[in-house]
Amino acid sequence: MSVAEMIETRTDAVFLNGRFHAGKGALRDAVNPATGEAFARFATATPGDVTAAAESAERAFGTWRRLPVAERARFLRGFAEGLDARRDALIELQMRNNGKPRFEAEIDLGDAAACFRYYADLIEGGALDRDRVVLPDDGFTGRQVLEPYGPAALIVPWNFPLVTTAWKLAPALAAGCTALLKPSEFTTLAELVYGEIAQEIGLPDGVLSILPGEGAIGAAMLDAPQVRKASFTGSNATGARIMGAAANRLLPVSLELGGKSPIVVLSDADIETAAELVCGGIFFNAGQICSATSRLIVDEAIADDLIAALRARIRKMAVGDPRGEIDMGPLTTMAQRDKVLGYLLAARSEGLDCLCGGTGALGPGFFIEPTVYLDVPETSALWREEIFGPVLSVRRVKGDEAAIALANATDYGLAATVVGGDPARANAVADRIDAGHVWVNTMQIIFPETSWGGFKASGIGRELGFGGLQGYAALKHITTPA
Ligand code: NAD
Repeated sequence: MSVAEMIETRTDAVFLNGRFHAGKGALRDAVNPATGEAFARFATATPGDVTAAAESAERAFGTWRRLPVAERARFLRGFAEGLDARRDALIELQMRNNGKPRFEAEIDLGDAAACFRYYADLIEGGALDRDRVVLPDDGFTGRQVLEPYGPAALIVPWNFPLVTTAWKLAPALAAGCTALLKPSEFTTLAELVYGEIAQEIGLPDGVLSILPGEGAIGAAMLDAPQVRKASFTGSNATGARIMGAAANRLLPVSLELGGKSPIVVLSDADIETAAELVCGGIFFNAGQICSATSRLIVDEAIADDLIAALRARIRKMAVGDPRGEIDMGPLTTMAQRDKVLGYLLAARSEGLDCLCGGTGALGPGFFIEPTVYLDVPETSALWREEIFGPVLSVRRVKGDEAAIALANATDYGLAATVVGGDPARANAVADRIDAGHVWVNTMQIIFPETSWGGFKASGIGRELGFGGLQGYAALKHITTPA
């Protein structure tokens, strides 16, 4: 598919019953954050579309859940191949709509396709059939199976549109659930690709619906009586609302929320390696990653050297329109740019020591300079709150114990990075950090085989790996006389 075909105004943006329909909801703009200008429009769904989607998901569920596992795996591989076939167009679209540098958009494509292939392999390998259960009475045998919950509401944010959806859609379909997907209203066009692929591979009608729109469409999905599972990735404020709505219906809910993740640099770390991992951990996707390592905790023995290395590295970073040779693009939305600007103003009024950046917005798009503040007090909003932008806060500590204590002194617990010269020592520190995913001497790399999810306020449940499949399936035990 050509770029021109993908980057177009879509009035038929509601994918329902195996076809695209004209959306009767409001038209929304797809904006290029590097220029601030709209480049396409798309129509959104109505609450009536949500009702129709939930009904068709319920109808499709009966046959989809009983389909032989190899058949469902074949469809999952079809999604991966469909993504591969549209690779260039989707990379271009993510650069245009998300402001991602080309190399980052490429990584997203690879990650999304790999996730579909992983779940195809996992269910073909027998992951849905559990072990026999040994019972204490010889007169009985027991066995367990994983059964899909039913139609699942999948609600995703704008920072990694193709990937956050793949992490939900692949395990949901693999488990035997049908799916209602609500993309972010800011990055909807890329998500429509899943409908196009569904048509191309002949996915049975109703197995997937795509319902573009704002939060109200997501809320309507949770109210639909046919929906039996809610899976959400996004902000903590919305996550709390989703959990409240799910509680009214006693729906099982998975929440992938925000973070304020630490990067801990031990006294024996190699300075250049540490500087590279610190920069990658906060400036990838312009800091708009739930797992961004936005708190640098560095041993005072090497702090000055690391700070000098960071300054040198950041000076060389090229920030600009993703069509050029850049290291970092703009923030994806104007609202996010304005939110980050609010933190820069707060830093100024707090009198924080600014190593670089911090001066404000660069126009005409939604650009913010890579920004680093030193010796940020623990009480500062910049140290405590998720900023979701290219803003790093630094504190110095003495010794590993102090570093661990500071790393864990947060409401969040999504991810962390530990950097150190002695892998055993760095791993010992990693073991004591309260986070769902810890990298040692590497950063932000996520394989589908691993698990993803938060401790504390960073979420409930796990994505990826076997845990991701379990998020869409209930364990059923069967007891039979021997
Ligand atoms: P958001 O919470 O504003 O929106 C996320 C999605 O929820 C959007 O599709 C939105 O339309 C929808 N929504 C809003 N109100 C709703 C409601 N009342 N009912 C149902 N749906 C509703 O988040 P965002 O700004 O799009 O994304 C940024 C946030 O996502 C950050 O906090 C980031 O940390 C988090 N995030 C977490 C992970 C993770 O894996 N833990 C991954 C990516 C992003």
